[in-house]
Amino acid sequence: MRARIVFDSASDASRRFDRGRGEEAMAQQIPIQEGLFTWPSAAPRILGSRCGGCGEVSFPAQGSCPACAGTETEDVPLAREGILWTWTIQRFPPPAPPFVGDREAFEPFGVGYVELPEGVRVESRLTVNDPDQLAIGMKMELVVEAFDRDAAGNERMGFAFRPVAA
Ligand SMILES: [Zn+2]
Repeated sequence: MRARIVFDSASDASRRFDRGRGEEAMAQQIPIQEGLFTWPSAAPRILGSRCGGCGEVSFPAQGSCPACAGTETEDVPLAREGILWTWTIQRFPPPAPPFVGDREAFEPFGVGYVELPEGVRVESRLTVNDPDQLAIGMKMELVVEAFDRDAAGNERMGFAFRPVAA
């Protein structure tokens, strides 16, 4: 159960809360990493790279091809839909670092590899953490969603895959 803080409207805590809301209004949504996906977009795409020499597609985008070491790579938006190749549920906070969030507020999340038509398997957070809603081979779709907040209060946006309703 997550603890919730309830503010009395007449209390000092409430005034602090109001100031906090003002800061929140100035805060922005920012991508968790530049160049990882197209955003803002109604149909976001993650960005990979394709080798001009052998055609190998990589994600994240790379300047040299992992298959042939060629350096003639170009960035390409990847398909928005793929197939769930394997998955698990992360049930406890990863060690810090790299985990920087609130350990008390941690909620289990799904993580998996989604195989895209380009032949690349993308490691990704999943939008659901219920094992009953996940199955190897199911169709998945890319979404961009709030991931966490940085120290300045900006909402950091990351990509995830969600099951496509059959
Ligand atoms: Zn290559």
